[in-house]
Amino acid sequence: MLEIKNIRKSFDGTEVLGGVDIHVDQGDVVAILGPSGSGKTTLLRCINFLETADAGMLVFDGERFEFDSISKKEIAGLRKKTAFVFQNYNLFRNKTALQNVTEGLVVARKMPKQQAVEIGKQALDKVGLSDRYDYYPNQLSGGQQQRVAIARALATNPEIIYFDEPTSALDPELTGEVLAVMRQLADEGMTMLVVTHEMSFARTVSNKVVFMENGAVIESGDSRTFFENPQEARTKEFLRTIN
Ligand code: ATP
Repeated sequence: MLEIKNIRKSFDGTEVLGGVDIHVDQGDVVAILGPSGSGKTTLLRCINFLETADAGMLVFDGERFEFDSISKKEIAGLRKKTAFVFQNYNLFRNKTALQNVTEGLVVARKMPKQQAVEIGKQALDKVGLSDRYDYYPNQLSGGQQQRVAIARALATNPEIIYFDEPTSALDPELTGEVLAVMRQLADEGMTMLVVTHEMSFARTVSNKVVFMENGAVIESGDSRTFFENPQEARTKEFLRTIN
């Protein structure tokens, strides 16, 4: 359903993505792994058009989009089919959990408020926050805030959710509740592309892994093979250092 082809990005003449290819099928949970600075976050930001890639192509549901010539209208169309969960939640501080989830539905998608509230409540129920509709972000733990952010993503009924290190801002004891929600979504067939340092998540939840270094894919394939029978010397070394 999503193909990223030969994506390239430089900042001030320094190449950060040097021609990356990624293939995501419907229902895949793809973990993007790699050492710090390897270009993982830049990749996600480029495919969601938060950064402008210099070259390459994205094929979404069979439709082709060139990064250097995609129109604003096409970007808006793609954003309707995708959702993004950020490292730092990006919630509105002055809105409740429910208002955070419904805001985009009402404002961007012009959904009637009553319908948005219904969908918002369902999404918050799904992430285990049915007793927190009216709480403000500063009254919620980091794990709960990230679950609100996931509910906000779910409420838009996306075809794929991009996650950028969704647990890296959390204390270890709060990481588990967020990963549990992501595991549940995976079990229900949600397609997800996840930049993560959580090896247990990559090992047990994702079915595919993409291992990047210096802006290039070093190795990719099914998770089991990646962890149990890595092919590349660099992958073996990476797995040794994290185990
Ligand atoms: P981490 O795991 O630490 O989050 P990462 O693999 O996600 O790292 P990126 O955040 O994509 O890596 O960064 C890749 C490289 O691009 C880094 O060297 C970073 O300094 C550089 N970079 C990222 N964004 C910018 C920017 N806006 N301007 C200049 N350089 C940038």
